[in-house]
Amino acid sequence: MLRSSIGKTMHQVTRSLSTIKCKRLEGKVAIVTASTEGIGFGIAKRLGEEGAKVMISSRKETNVKKALEQLKSKGLNVCGTICNVGKSEDRKNLLEKTKQEFGGLDILVSNAGINPAATTFFETSEEVWDKIFDINVKSTFLLIQESLPLLRKSKSPSIIIISSIAGYMSFPFLGAYCVSKTALLGLNQVAAETLAPEGIRVNCIGPGIIKTKLSKMLYEGEIADTMLSTIPMQRFGEPDDIAKVAAFLASDDASYITGETIVATGGIRSRL
Ligand code: NAP
Repeated sequence: MLRSSIGKTMHQVTRSLSTIKCKRLEGKVAIVTASTEGIGFGIAKRLGEEGAKVMISSRKETNVKKALEQLKSKGLNVCGTICNVGKSEDRKNLLEKTKQEFGGLDILVSNAGINPAATTFFETSEEVWDKIFDINVKSTFLLIQESLPLLRKSKSPSIIIISSIAGYMSFPFLGAYCVSKTALLGLNQVAAETLAPEGIRVNCIGPGIIKTKLSKMLYEGEIADTMLSTIPMQRFGEPDDIAKVAAFLASDDASYITGETIVATGGIRSRL
């Protein structure tokens, strides 16, 4: 109990300090996928606060509009469009719109990730397996591939892939999702080594249990107490905890880092 409240107080202090922001991303243009709520929204906000021009997107127009209003009300330089990352024409439009509005691209954050059904591993249907791999893995590969013509024109291009602690360990009812997130760790390494000679950095973030719609079952459901007991820092994460890592990786402070995965889990160990 005492440890838990100390953990929370420390977090509140850190959160208030983090309102003092540096401007490491001034002059840069960023795309963040699935950025109308959750971790993606947090990353878009932070990149914008650090000076980047940010193109946000997700599948639903109403969500894009609402998120744009929120970000613009903070004085951020943002633009938005519909993009279901699983649709080729949407990804093409996302890149074209970014070029039109902001003139190029420096930072690509591939954040979209889904888990459409919570089942035990061997109850996963072929349809669900394909959907998870289409959105989480194939769309990440394709979006990176399609963004290269723009990134190659940038002076300091950087790609960030959002994997998960679930890529390192299995979670109840998330089996296929866990496998897809492990695949992203491999995609990160191959993409980073392939693009390093061109000066395009590729890195990955492995969030722990972060309080968003996707993970509600883990931090609010019957297993919430069990989940909390696995976190040495004794709190679930906030989107902002991940946004800070993304801002660092996208910035020139990470100029010699590529092919790396930063795991932000409140201390849950990661090892494959
Ligand atoms: P979330 O809260 O479920 O994210 C929802 C966002 O994704 C919304 O903006 C939604 O908007 C958009 N979205 C959903 N499907 C999409 C698609 N096919 N194409 C484009 N946008 C789509 O999820 P999150 O927790 O923020 O997760 C973000 C990333 O972090 C994912 O890759 C996830 O696997 C990873 N992650 C999350 C956790 C966690 O504990 N939350 C932990 C580790 C890793 P629309 O409905 O308008 O499309």
